[in-house]
Amino acid sequence: MAAAAERTTSAERPAQRTIHIGGEWREAVSGATRDILDPADAKSFAVVAEGDERDADAAVAAARRAFDEGPWPRTPVAERAALLRRVAGLLVRDRESLGLLESRDAGKTVEEGRVDVDCVADAFRYFADLVAGEAGGRVVDAGSEDVHSVVVHEPVGVCGLITPWNYPLLQASWKIAPALAAGNTFVVKPSEITPLTTVALMRLLVEAGLPDGVANVVTGPGHSVGARFAEHPDVDLVSFTGGLISGTKVAQAAAVSVKKVALELGGKNPNVVFADACETEEGFDTAVDQALNAAFIHSGQVCSAGSRLIIEESVRERFVAELARRAERIRLGRGTEDGVECGPLVSERQRERTEEYVASALAEGAVLRAGGRRPEPSGTRPATGYFYEPTVLDRCHREMRVVREEVFGPVLTVETFRTEDEAVALANDTEYGLAGGVWTADAGRARRVAGRLRHGTVWINDFHPYLPQAEWGGFGKSGVGRELGPSGLAEYRESKHVYQNLAQRPVRWFAG
Ligand code: NAD
Repeated sequence: MAAAAERTTSAERPAQRTIHIGGEWREAVSGATRDILDPADAKSFAVVAEGDERDADAAVAAARRAFDEGPWPRTPVAERAALLRRVAGLLVRDRESLGLLESRDAGKTVEEGRVDVDCVADAFRYFADLVAGEAGGRVVDAGSEDVHSVVVHEPVGVCGLITPWNYPLLQASWKIAPALAAGNTFVVKPSEITPLTTVALMRLLVEAGLPDGVANVVTGPGHSVGARFAEHPDVDLVSFTGGLISGTKVAQAAAVSVKKVALELGGKNPNVVFADACETEEGFDTAVDQALNAAFIHSGQVCSAGSRLIIEESVRERFVAELARRAERIRLGRGTEDGVECGPLVSERQRERTEEYVASALAEGAVLRAGGRRPEPSGTRPATGYFYEPTVLDRCHREMRVVREEVFGPVLTVETFRTEDEAVALANDTEYGLAGGVWTADAGRARRVAGRLRHGTVWINDFHPYLPQAEWGGFGKSGVGRELGPSGLAEYRESKHVYQNLAQRPVRWFAG
């Protein structure tokens, strides 16, 4: 998103102080600003500072100082946990305004924005409880009564956090909460097109009493600010959520200074439906309803979207007909309007990408059952907004681009199987491995299939729920490392083994 039209200089716009470094709110060193567009009408509704490498360097220097000299890494765990809980309380207080801001920035419905804020508060509470409940180290048996050996955890240092545009506040909090719980300092760069709630969260961290320099934010593009964080020798860890191509670049840049790297990348997530799940009317209705939710919530701009329906051949026609009927009825519009069920795509680029995938699928033989076009403008759907209809593509197969690559738009492909082995093979036939669902009335089959799926999360007779206490992340090219759960905290820690000899004496290995 480097569109010239969205960048302006300070001569044309008042400077915006959305960069937070060492406890101060600043404009960009260059004075550049960026318009933030509402995807429902493509109009600017906010302006932020457009930072570059110089702002990134200043932020890293502040975080470095705060880590090396400041109190936070040495603050007792109970106090760190108390601060995280205060942040959770402030999030609850600001739920409405943050939910609305997320809705306008990312194009989701306000209700989705509110749910995101609830999940963010949960993540802060979870990591507070996790660190507060821990013992202060693990004593290991050294095999001798003359030795006391203990493994302790320490913060990694300065963390570079880079986040995407689909769940801006949520993705930032899955990094910020454990990074702070573990005693790190950080620099965060939100997506350049949806930075507003991360800036708002920074204000809450300040209000909660976080010492200066511990939390720093630089609004700006990936190729300058994000790339600088990834390569910077004073950054000890980089945690990135975003697409495969950018994630690969981040990992390459980080390798030069041998940083710890965590990557949360894309997905091409199967939703496997067995005919036995549809035997009762209620079962059929639930499976269709959840397939709709899996694919189209937030217009499919979800890393774990169930964008591949893999359905048993015998129920395909009935299932797809009902799915298409309901997809056509989804109410598209501005996310802040009452009654709207799905907002626009986040940008024109994202809509064009979606259109290209649908065109390529149709050229390769897919059959269009719903959507496949921009909707007519209406009262809740300005003509300038980036709307696209929920789209169902039937008769798809594994060679199609739309089946292999992540669309990140409201596009559901349908493939069929006859046997359990075929279903598993199709579900695993992806270079990604983030999440998948399996629908069946047979408990044994459910467990068998779940056990064989090569995906980081498997839902049985459900789709999308996640828990802060359970790890989130992917197999294959969906990433490296895990967020949430105990592993999500471990990412932000170093282990140190302290071996104490209680009965010192010479070893006499060398005789002289
Ligand atoms: P993106 O890769 O374009 O951008 C993500 C972030 O990286 C942005 O802040 C961007 O400015 C920055 N960036 C871009 N190039 C960079 C570079 N060379 N060096 C450093 N930073 C750089 O992704 P996006 O389009 O914002 O988000 C969509 C992608 O995110 C999808 O692929 C989606 O699946 C993925 N995602 C994954 C998860 C998960 O949990 N696995 C969650 C949400 C989104």
